[in-house]
Amino acid sequence: MIFDSYEAYRAANFSPKVCILGSGPAGTTIARKLGAAGIPVVVMEAGPREFSDESQDFYRGSTVGDFYFDLDITRLRFMGGSSNHWAGWCRVLDKQDFEPRAWVPDTGWPIRRTDIEPYLPEVRDILDLPALRPDMPISDDIRWVQLIKSPAVRFAEKFGDELDKATNIAVVLNTCATELAGDGKRVTGARLWSNGQDAGSFSADYFIVCTGGLENSRLLLWSNQRSNGGVVPNAMALGRYWMEHPTFEGGNAILANYNAFEVDAVNEAFFSPTLTAMERLQIMNFGIRLIETPYPGVKSLIADLACTAPDMAEWMSSKLSQRLRCAAQLYVAWEQAPLASNQIELSKTDVDHAGVPRIELHWKKSELEHRTLLEGLRLFGKTLIEKDLGRVRIADWISNGQDYPTDDETAGHHHMGGTRMGTDISKSVVDANCKVHGMDNLYVGGSSVFCTSGQCNPTTTITALACRLGEHLSKVVTA
Ligand SMILES: Cc1cc2nc3c(=O)[nH]c(=O)nc-3n(C[C@H](O)[C@H](O)[C@H](O)COP(=O)(O)OP(=O)(O)OC[C@H]3O[C@@H](n4cnc5c(N)ncnc54)[C@H](O)[C@@H]3O)c2cc1C
Repeated sequence: MIFDSYEAYRAANFSPKVCILGSGPAGTTIARKLGAAGIPVVVMEAGPREFSDESQDFYRGSTVGDFYFDLDITRLRFMGGSSNHWAGWCRVLDKQDFEPRAWVPDTGWPIRRTDIEPYLPEVRDILDLPALRPDMPISDDIRWVQLIKSPAVRFAEKFGDELDKATNIAVVLNTCATELAGDGKRVTGARLWSNGQDAGSFSADYFIVCTGGLENSRLLLWSNQRSNGGVVPNAMALGRYWMEHPTFEGGNAILANYNAFEVDAVNEAFFSPTLTAMERLQIMNFGIRLIETPYPGVKSLIADLACTAPDMAEWMSSKLSQRLRCAAQLYVAWEQAPLASNQIELSKTDVDHAGVPRIELHWKKSELEHRTLLEGLRLFGKTLIEKDLGRVRIADWISNGQDYPTDDETAGHHHMGGTRMGTDISKSVVDANCKVHGMDNLYVGGSSVFCTSGQCNPTTTITALACRLGEHLSKVVTA
């Protein structure tokens, strides 16, 4: 059942046991799992069915620190969430992303990759993915990895009919939770705002916050402030350890053989370091995206020349009335160190239409990250030489330690951390089952629970964690 307002939903007299906030990939996946287990569930979705400026305005905020996207541009507030414009790149976090690494402080999850692997067949169905292939080492230092370009499932489009027909799932559009109330043990209710006005409070046995990797922290910070610590009783880490995947063009490459790696439909192949290499160089995980621009015959020679002698290549290609780029570009996206100082705070001056303080995001890349970028490119270059596969030219701004450019990709629109998973309550917000420490009926879904970011896009792992949480809750709720 899908309702356009809280008023319409109330008239239907549906009695849910579980309330999920947010209908993005995390919320929709958990709702479908609970629905399939016969548990009545309501999904409160802040936005309408389609994009609206009015709804999107709730996402405005500010950033302090490094250059970042506007906060109302980097996510979408309507049914299906940011799956409405995600690019569809899919990969699960690496095994080593879950492990503690002595050279990167505050790493290590309370679960292992094997804890989410049983859900991968389900994730493949949900995200329309082909079979996953194992990574292939090309040296002791570098792995050739798979990053799948999927059809980018729009969750509202793919699952809208199913949700509408479901008798034990209700989706309530245009209805957001402005705050949760709690007594330090349980969430006792949610304050709702529907179609531009206060809609009173709502209660359910369980609440699952799936409002996205920025908004989860915002909602919980505000709820905690209003309830005097009654919603997140151990809030030392709330909003902290926020992470992205910084992404920049790192240089280019001349390849000896353009058939050495199988490229995908858009001529791309992906490479990451081995754990041994990361440990030896004391760096973090990274992903190098090699984009081939294969040219035939003499054009290929000129494109290769563009890597080493750009002026000469430009002159020669102008003679051919062509603009040839260096034959392979290298983009690097990397793991960001979990730092308590990278955090979501509530603005002291700016509120949204419902009176909730907007986000002030504090975000800065660290020295370890610059080292990861530089050493990562050097390592990839060394591997290409050793294996006689080609040569790498690292961009000058990286080799010279200059500032990050502000006209490049910047980051992945991947919002991770803020309510991270852990056992130490001073450094985490949820436990291994995504339950808020100290609370009996409050859970969190989405990448805000990530302890570390790894190097790959997050939604495949978000969906796997959501399947796992859905299954766990099915047992808890029926117990
Ligand atoms: C341009 C772009 C490209 C991307 N490309 C990729 C990619 O290729 N691969 C990848 O893995 N990831 C990608 N992502 C990230 C991906 O979109 C997110 O990881 C994913 O959507 C997160 O799912 P979620 O359910 O946690 O949150 P969201 O998708 O953000 O959904 C949250 C939902 O909660 C609702 N909501 C918000 N506040 C409230 C409230 N208070 N009460 C009730 N409801 C609320 C919102 O309206 C929204 O529907 C991309 C993102 C962007 C912006």
